[in-house]
Amino acid sequence: MYDVAIIGSGVTGYAAAMYAARLDLAAVVIGDVDGGTITLTDDVANYPGYIQLTGQELAGKLREHALDYPVTLDTDLVTEVFRSKEDCFYVVTEKKTFLAKSVIIATGMKERELEVPGHNEFRNRGVSYCALCDAPLYKDKVVAVVGGSDSAAKEALLLAKYCQKVYIIYRREKIRPEPINAERIEREPKIEVITKTNVTEIIGDQKVNRLRLDNPYKHSDTLTVDGVFIAIGGIPNSQLAGKMGVLLNEKGEIIIDRASRTNVEGVFAAGDVVDTEFKQAITGVAEGVHAAYQAYRYVNEHDFVFTCQQD
Ligand SMILES: Cc1cc2nc3c(=O)[nH]c(=O)nc-3n(C[C@H](O)[C@H](O)[C@H](O)COP(=O)(O)OP(=O)(O)OC[C@H]3O[C@@H](n4cnc5c(N)ncnc54)[C@H](O)[C@@H]3O)c2cc1C
Repeated sequence: MYDVAIIGSGVTGYAAAMYAARLDLAAVVIGDVDGGTITLTDDVANYPGYIQLTGQELAGKLREHALDYPVTLDTDLVTEVFRSKEDCFYVVTEKKTFLAKSVIIATGMKERELEVPGHNEFRNRGVSYCALCDAPLYKDKVVAVVGGSDSAAKEALLLAKYCQKVYIIYRREKIRPEPINAERIEREPKIEVITKTNVTEIIGDQKVNRLRLDNPYKHSDTLTVDGVFIAIGGIPNSQLAGKMGVLLNEKGEIIIDRASRTNVEGVFAAGDVVDTEFKQAITGVAEGVHAAYQAYRYVNEHDFVFTCQQD
């Protein structure tokens, strides 16, 4: 029986685990992808204490810090969480079931797909969701990044190191990266920003070779590219929480209070999966720490009748 089961092995889950262990809680982290979303970037320059490091390095440091304590790490997908009448949580994975007194949900988001004709056909044949993984394949080629966030800008900046030309295509009037990345984009002659435009179709034969646009660019409604990188945000991985009766907002994000508590006693949530506007590694880490502290209070304040049995 664990005091707390932390679902998700991204930065948020690891930070929660480190704090939980320091508070003397028996903690298990269950996650299917080590490190989570931050590992998609090679440039983290806004995590306090580190002037610059890669996402892999940051996730590695947080994992190492958590595992410096007696934390159990299980690499697996959680398929169900339910509560017994004795108030214990059964956290069911594809391989086993963990029993815990409290749960922290730190499951992050999955990428939002660009729902246009050609997307599925050309996925991994010119359609990518990870510049860090695929940029070297596009050396001296022409690519487009779809999206206008800071993440999209960073994807474009990384691609510009390899590609001959990078278009950023964004539906609104102005892209909205952090000012420092906006400046970098302005200074990078290989990047061109096309605003007020949607990609409506991905076209190709063996691989992507054109994008159809809903707003003509240089008098053409198609743009010649060798690849397209999608960076249009994410969809919260909140299905497990929803099934447990945890309240979600209209975007599917878990609603938490300032202490990372959900509406369900004993269930806490943090990171990209929750209803906060600003989603960064440092904000997820901080929410994870709140969640661990609240789990500690919950476990210590409740008189559990721990009659539940591990199968
Ligand atoms: C391209 C890009 C660049 C970025 N750059 C920066 C940056 O420079 N600085 C910054 O602060 N932030 C940056 N961010 C944002 C940052 O990556 C996220 O805010 C942060 O990583 C969220 O961490 P998390 O642990 O909450 O979620 P995630 O990292 O998404 O981790 C959730 C984990 O839970 C796992 N999981 C989900 N469901 C289950 C399940 N059912 N069972 C088991 N495991 C499950 C997932 O596989 C994943 O491993 C960037 C994001 C992107 C996309």
